[in-house]
Amino acid sequence: MLFDLKYFFHSFYRFRCIKCIKAGVDEFNATWSSAYTTVLFRAYYGPDTDEDGQSWIGGWIQMKIFAQQCKNCDEYITGELDNERPGYLVKWLHHWIANKFYGFPSYDSHYRGKETDLNHLENRCEACITGWCHYLKVKNRRVNTYKN
Ligand SMILES: [Zn+2]
Ligand SMILES: [Zn+2]
Repeated sequence: MLFDLKYFFHSFYRFRCIKCIKAGVDEFNATWSSAYTTVLFRAYYGPDTDEDGQSWIGGWIQMKIFAQQCKNCDEYITGELDNERPGYLVKWLHHWIANKFYGFPSYDSHYRGKETDLNHLENRCEACITGWCHYLKVKNRRVNTYKN
């Protein structure tokens, strides 16, 4: 029995290209933030058997922060969380697990991204390239609005 769930979370992340900073690029030009930063969670919960044949109920959670590419040097950078985000993220994750695995009422208050961020560079966003980015949805909605 395998439970495998995916979810993504959007937040305002800061990206800092260490490669550029080391090469002498001004910190301001080597730093950017993005409202469309995608974090993907995958959770597993179920029985597991250890090497002695003992079965356990347990699980694991994997987390992937999608990278964005530096405009100056094309290096892929993973966003940094600010001081408040980790707590918020853990709280959200807790509610998500309670809902998905234990049937608690859903908690749908995750940040969906600032919809006015028009500077998002699709071709430099790993989540856009792999189709996970919330920006793609926002963009499609905007295109549909123009059509009407
Ligand atoms: Zn760079
Ligand atoms: Zn994106």
